[in-house]
Amino acid sequence: MSTDPSIKTPQVRLLRPLAIALAGAALISLAPAASAADSFAACLAQLRGPALKAGVSGATFDTHTAGLAPDMAVIDLLDAQPEFKTPIWDYMAALVDDERVSDGQAGMARWQSDLDRAASRYGVDAATIAAVWGVESNYGRTLGGRPLLTSLSTLSCYGRRQAYFRGEFFSTLKIIQDEHIAPERLTGSWAGAFGQTQFMPSTYLRLAVDFDGDGRRDLVDSVPDALASTANFLKRAGWSAALPWGFEVRLPAGLDTSGAGRKNKRAMSYWAGRGVTRADGQPLPAGDTPAGLLLPAGRGGPAFLVTRNFDALYSYNAAESYALAIAHLSDRLRGGSPLAQAWPTDDPGLSRAQRRELQRLLIARGYEIGEPDGMIGTRTRQALQEAQRELGLKPDGRAGLKSLQALQAGKTPN
Ligand code: CA
Repeated sequence: MSTDPSIKTPQVRLLRPLAIALAGAALISLAPAASAADSFAACLAQLRGPALKAGVSGATFDTHTAGLAPDMAVIDLLDAQPEFKTPIWDYMAALVDDERVSDGQAGMARWQSDLDRAASRYGVDAATIAAVWGVESNYGRTLGGRPLLTSLSTLSCYGRRQAYFRGEFFSTLKIIQDEHIAPERLTGSWAGAFGQTQFMPSTYLRLAVDFDGDGRRDLVDSVPDALASTANFLKRAGWSAALPWGFEVRLPAGLDTSGAGRKNKRAMSYWAGRGVTRADGQPLPAGDTPAGLLLPAGRGGPAFLVTRNFDALYSYNAAESYALAIAHLSDRLRGGSPLAQAWPTDDPGLSRAQRRELQRLLIARGYEIGEPDGMIGTRTRQALQEAQRELGLKPDGRAGLKSLQALQAGKTPN
């Protein structure tokens, strides 16, 4: 997660040419690596005073910055723009697939007593906590492998938003110093989100809790700490135990949707009075609970009424698609159905199992794209583009159902 929308890490990114990544280190082409290392060392030296003001001891700062070298790849990731906007149906298909539902239900069974305890202490239900866990780290399986000290010191010295990242760098040093978590355990996304909750370091310092009673707040290795810290985050973000996040709805023909939007909330009775019904046939809740009409793919796709609990999910990562993935996954974890209304496309998105199959079919055609991991990265996308050309499809590199079906049916080239 990130509390800062400008540093979100979308699921699908392509690296831009290395030129920009290397811009900060361009001087090394003439005079050896020394000058880049000198500039980084000079930057770190300037950060020592502010770090001490932020509560980092001199000994901590000196010990944990001594061996640091910048990783300019994170500056490229900071500046990278996704090659194209991921359609919401691709995003939802991979984040809320049958595998994540069954993994989540197994996780909920295993950690039931901790989830129940967290639900009663923070007022956030077990399925919602588990859904955040599932989307953030695939239930603790995917934590991110970039060392926080390296990424955040680099982001503190180069590129945009250095002031923001310096705060996160100092927070990381404080975690090491005060919470006794070894630097080697502090790895995460390029922007510094780490652990099973993918909290930024400053969020950890504000909101992480010790829930297994060992005296340490450990979001990396303690599932109970991670689950309760997520619940604490949502509670502080305004979650109300008395409300649903919202639900899928059906809109009557001719409804004026010009007032749609998460923030533009009106009483449930207002929507009911205009003929909006729940997609599952249940009545809308009575009364004046404020709800906004969310149309993630416009009037032709699924529609939702969302309450302020949806806003609490949104605050975890500042994207409506992200909040919707968590909300819908929480419904599926409770045994709920897939969305009633199809997304407005004739080429639906793929689950992770289908993405792995697509990758296996590309490998069978001779493309070297590494292990089939269900992640559509640069190599998969480029291979798919070539295969699409061979198969007479639009060569856009998008892994959708039409491409999967064409690969399934296609001849292996000789
Ligand atoms: Ca603990």
